[in-house]
Amino acid sequence: MKVVDTPQKMRELAETLRREEAPLGLVPTMGALHEGHISLIDRATSECGAAVVSIFVNPAQFAAGEDYDTYPRTYHADLEACREMGVACVYAPRANAMYPGGYDTWVDVPGLGAPLCGARRQGHFRGVATVVLKLLAACLPHRAYFGEKDYQQLVLIRRMTRDLDLGVEIVPCPIVREDDGMALSSRNAYLSADERSRARAISAALFDAKKKVAAGERLSAAIIQACVDELEEAGSRVDYVEIVEPATLERVETINGAARMAVAAYIGETRLIDNILLEPDDEA
Ligand code: AMP
Repeated sequence: MKVVDTPQKMRELAETLRREEAPLGLVPTMGALHEGHISLIDRATSECGAAVVSIFVNPAQFAAGEDYDTYPRTYHADLEACREMGVACVYAPRANAMYPGGYDTWVDVPGLGAPLCGARRQGHFRGVATVVLKLLAACLPHRAYFGEKDYQQLVLIRRMTRDLDLGVEIVPCPIVREDDGMALSSRNAYLSADERSRARAISAALFDAKKKVAAGERLSAAIIQACVDELEEAGSRVDYVEIVEPATLERVETINGAARMAVAAYIGETRLIDNILLEPDDEA
């Protein structure tokens, strides 16, 4: 397995991989790899001729006061996991290789970047879109794998690749959950034992919402209110709970077709996100 740390070296290797081991797959990550990432890497290695995993904690997507400095970093274990999975190359640039002095180009997807997390995390999706474009430009994949865990990110990146004619297939991957339903996330490492047990309420509330829709509830306001109540009862501070149209992320008042319910909530100091697909024809 090759480990590469500059865009120039990555591009050079990617040109060969793309030509000789097509299709080339990319899995962008911020490291601290867990089973959610592993599921993406597994798909990339099994569906592609070669897979590149990028590991980069992207300063541009953290606002001032967020957790850039304390974000979990487990670089050596991550490399080992990638090696074991048959990854062809890990691309792990340093921040100053990605954003050298004088760096001044940004990608904005204003419509899809505005609601949900975009309304709470200033500049977050501009940072995400910019870094993903840079990763795609360096790694030259035919396909890039993204988790539905970060649903807004997935939709926004798909829009960007279409709008900019990048010719990369964006492959959505389902959310990997713990046995109790909690979505895996690198930020779960911040939780104390007590917070971890309270955090379960987030996925539980989403599954309850899905059951309500299966039982015939169609009004978003009622489903959202029940979810907020459950989260507050579990002692979490709700950042947002919304039900949106899956492609446009516009609010849905009445559930007549597939919709995404998305939650962001604080458990102690830790902000966690999760989401679920709601479908009116779900079985009760
Ligand atoms: P991150 O390292 O948090 O930036 O995540 C890298 C990629 O892994 C993103 O596409 C995430 O959506 C995806 N991912 C993170 N957690 C999960 C999960 N529990 N299930 C599926 N994909 C995930």
